[in-house]
Amino acid sequence: MRQSSLFTKTLRDSPKDEVSINARLLIRGGFISKVMAGVYECMPLGLRVLNSINAIIREEMNAIGAEELHMSVLQNKDTWMKSGRWSAAKEVMYQFQDPGGRDIGLGWTHEEPLTAVAKHFISSYKDLPKAVYQIQTKFRNEPRAKSGMLRGREFLMKDLYSFHADEEDLNRYYEIVARAYEHIFGRVGLDARRTIAAGGLFSKYSDEFQVLSEVGEDTIFYCTECRYAVNIEVVSDFGLKSVCPECSGALAQGKSIEVGNIFKLGTAFSEAFDLTYVTGNGDKRPVIMASYGIGPGRVMGAVVEMRHDEKGIMWPDSIAPYSAHLIALGKEKSTHDAAEKLYAALQKSSIEVLYDDRDATAGEKFADADLLGIPYRLVVSEKTIKNREVEVKRRNEEKLNMVKLEDIPKLLLNSRFFTYA
Ligand code: ATP
Ligand code: MG
Repeated sequence: MRQSSLFTKTLRDSPKDEVSINARLLIRGGFISKVMAGVYECMPLGLRVLNSINAIIREEMNAIGAEELHMSVLQNKDTWMKSGRWSAAKEVMYQFQDPGGRDIGLGWTHEEPLTAVAKHFISSYKDLPKAVYQIQTKFRNEPRAKSGMLRGREFLMKDLYSFHADEEDLNRYYEIVARAYEHIFGRVGLDARRTIAAGGLFSKYSDEFQVLSEVGEDTIFYCTECRYAVNIEVVSDFGLKSVCPECSGALAQGKSIEVGNIFKLGTAFSEAFDLTYVTGNGDKRPVIMASYGIGPGRVMGAVVEMRHDEKGIMWPDSIAPYSAHLIALGKEKSTHDAAEKLYAALQKSSIEVLYDDRDATAGEKFADADLLGIPYRLVVSEKTIKNREVEVKRRNEEKLNMVKLEDIPKLLLNSRFFTYA
């Protein structure tokens, strides 16, 4: 992509009405645009990041046998009356009457409609287990929408729902999902701890995936030696002192961002909707369920919070909008010819490259490169071209390396990033 043709431009100044780092940097870089508190539009650069996060989530969900579907945003009041959440959740759920006088709500989670639709397809033990997920926009009337992408009123959620014959099968799959979550967060470059939390319907607890960060709204107790972590909400239940119950390491307390949350629902929804199955012996039993959420937009915001400096963002290779930011300096035709050639060669090797072909100063180009945070900066100038070289710099390192022009595609192809937690 030629930077001269990008739909967006970078902004020199941070928006005055944004306090959060993630929103300030994402807006300045042209990744997102603000509509109102908690509502952002995703610009082309931001969508490239979000699509990469979603692709990782899809890979990991598909790998554990979950099927993708797409539920409706418009929700029937009747469906939500069955669980009692039409009234119970009216602070969070957008509810209104349409011009036809029908009571409609906007989906803020999807347990109710998923349980209702599962009744068409689950009736026997032979139909279990099943798992379906979607990546879709959710709406929540969040009173404190001041954290940019971390807390939207309209935001993306990956929500997975699983259906089981018994508790043992539920527990088996729940652990499989927890492992998939660890893969997902590792791959997007977040160190997320599985954290014991309140809020289970079936078991007393749920599991959150928490990233330690000063801007987080949660507080967790975590072990400084192993991965053990507990949300402060349930610390008293465990009688926690200063020592980790698993490894005796020292416990510390810290603020954190919840990027995922998994729940055992048990039969709470299947009983409300009469979602049952017939066992091998002919007995009728309620289906046992669980639900599992991740916020891809919150993940994007959390990555920015965790990986930035005073100049801008530092995307991990796995979700960067482009792998390389090619910059041509000076006015010499030979430099620009060499840059054009390198741009073509990189595209031919299927390397995603943003090419700064604009008529701008070196200072402006470097400042934009730092702000946009693309992992590799490739600078071509009269000086480098004289030796048929390119100056290569990683966004998160200071070191400059001179690399032969012809070695650049190979260098980038070899550095594709895959970390598994
Ligand atoms: P929180 O406690 O932060 O309000 P929650 O527990 O209500 O979140 P869940 O219903 O468990 O959230 O949603 C699943 C996931 O969706 C969360 O772990 C988070 O990553 C994401 N998420 C929830 N609310 C928002 C929001 N307002 N904006 C962006 N992402 C969100
Ligand atoms: Mg939660």
